[in-house]
Amino acid sequence: MRSPLVIGNWKMNGCLAKNTELIDQLLISINEVKGVNVVICPPYPYLMQVAEQLASMAIKLGAQNVSAFKSGAYTGEVSSHMLSDLGCSYVLLGHSERRSLFQESDEQIAIKFEISLNAGLSPVLCVGETLEQRQNNETQSIVSRQVQVIVDRVGIKSFANAVIAYEPIWAIGTGETATPIQAQAVHQLIRQQLRGSDGDIADSVQILYGGSVNATNAQALFCQPDIDGGLVGGASLNATDFLMICLFNS
Ligand code: PEP
Repeated sequence: MRSPLVIGNWKMNGCLAKNTELIDQLLISINEVKGVNVVICPPYPYLMQVAEQLASMAIKLGAQNVSAFKSGAYTGEVSSHMLSDLGCSYVLLGHSERRSLFQESDEQIAIKFEISLNAGLSPVLCVGETLEQRQNNETQSIVSRQVQVIVDRVGIKSFANAVIAYEPIWAIGTGETATPIQAQAVHQLIRQQLRGSDGDIADSVQILYGGSVNATNAQALFCQPDIDGGLVGGASLNATDFLMICLFNS
């Protein structure tokens, strides 16, 4: 039985004062959210601030990226061990903004996935197709390749401690969401692909949907049998909306 999970990705937003206000608002009502794991991924400089504010609360901490290197002379990088040291439990990997704006390759993402697991973090592997790829009927081959690269490098069992987020690129930050049927179809394909290697992993891995999830569309998406929750960008910056999205998953 898979437990529901909702992850808020703040992207490059926030400041000390706004973060405090947002977390304070979340903490007022988070106890109403039952049986859902909730994670917040602030920008690196605010991890410590949010970690301190969340101390002993049910919300967990995640990072938005990690270095592919373990430690040493890599100016500007942040290592997996630093993230676990700060109290992170999760790390987003292969977000489409990293793939497209920072040219992260499948291979780099696989290295980051492995290095994160070794530091005790749960990687959240983001996969998804562009609008053009969808229109060319390439969704399955693109998503399947992005998952298979990890299986080939790190092994199918690595998904026992990882999460997959299906995020169609055309739905991220656009206000356009995949329909529940479109999203469910891809989630089912991902699970079928994993089942080819390991049935237990296929049944247990949490597969989240991401792409303009909001308080209006979350419920219909989360009702789908292979959708285990959401990766939420814009709406995670509003406490009322984010809490509502979490409640729909409880
Ligand atoms: C995201 O950042 O992963 C995301 C899905 O963003 P949004 O919810 O704003 O589309």
